Amino acid sequence: MIQLYQPLNFLGMIYREIKQSLIDIEAMFAILARPPEIRDAPAARALAIKGGHVRFEDVRFSYDPDREILKGISFDVPAGRTVAIVGPSGAGKSTLSRLLFRFYDVNAGRISIDGQDLREVSQESLRAAIGMVPQDTVLFNDTLAYNIRYGRPQASEEDVQSAAELAQIDGFVRRTPKGYATEVGERGLKLSGGEKQRVAIARTILKNPPILILDEATSALDSHTEREIQDALERVSRGRTTLVIAHRLSTVVGADEIIVLEQGRIAERGTHAALMLRHGLYHSMWERQREAERARETLKAAGEVV
Ligand code: ATP
Repeated sequence: MIQLYQPLNFLGMIYREIKQSLIDIEAMFAILARPPEIRDAPAARALAIKGGHVRFEDVRFSYDPDREILKGISFDVPAGRTVAIVGPSGAGKSTLSRLLFRFYDVNAGRISIDGQDLREVSQESLRAAIGMVPQDTVLFNDTLAYNIRYGRPQASEEDVQSAAELAQIDGFVRRTPKGYATEVGERGLKLSGGEKQRVAIARTILKNPPILILDEATSALDSHTEREIQDALERVSRGRTTLVIAHRLSTVVGADEIIVLEQGRIAERGTHAALMLRHGLYHSMWERQREAERARETLKAAGEVV
């Protein structure tokens, strides 16, 4: 019997391992969603980070040859600074973040970090230097601890907990049935968009990258959750080169520069105060959001919205 049991047990173990890696691979592809043609250059070197200065130079890009999405974009994110990208839906904001992560290559122009063209460095070193808090975080079918630790697999339990605290997800974790050992994802606890985003922030805190891309969720969060996420994001972006893809203008007021993108071109750029004085696209977007917020509050006060 034992002769049969051992190999079966072994097979079971292999099966579980393969299944877990398939789930992880699936999730990874969902995260990366990158076409397979992006390859390292034969002489690709590891990215050498000095301060993490990001530069876009006259970048042109299209997903399909007959429709150009970015039409000559140039801007800098100096080391340790925050630049926010705003603009109407479909303007090309998230595309900029995908290009910085090199999910795609530019059609013309150049993107560099500390003077090194992204196409000349290894993808592994590039992705190790950039932390991404995406719009929709994919969670693995595993425990909360596993999902947070994914940012740095060798992190200690204390590190995981302090990252969770910084990301303001520790309170939520404590309220779950088994704390950090609680299973999440399809077979476990379902997390809300805001909770998932805070798990992603905790992951990023553990990864401790010099460059950060924050792709804000489009879905409206309640104002308390939004404030918590905002606080967590501010903490994680402190001292790091940060590119924020913003959908809510309230989150960009403190940025060093705001780039207003419209149909693949930079329509306006400057600080919040300077852009408000221009009375252009940014100003009208701001006014529109304010009106929408006021309308929402009025409805809420009247008990129409919970
Ligand atoms: P939103 O604020 O709605 O998130 P965005 O400014 O971030 O919009 P992008 O996601 O960068 O916009 O998309 C810019 C344009 O590129 C859109 O018109 C979109 O339809 C198109 N696009 C995005 N991803 C792809 C893709 N994988 N293949 C083809 N077209 C795409």
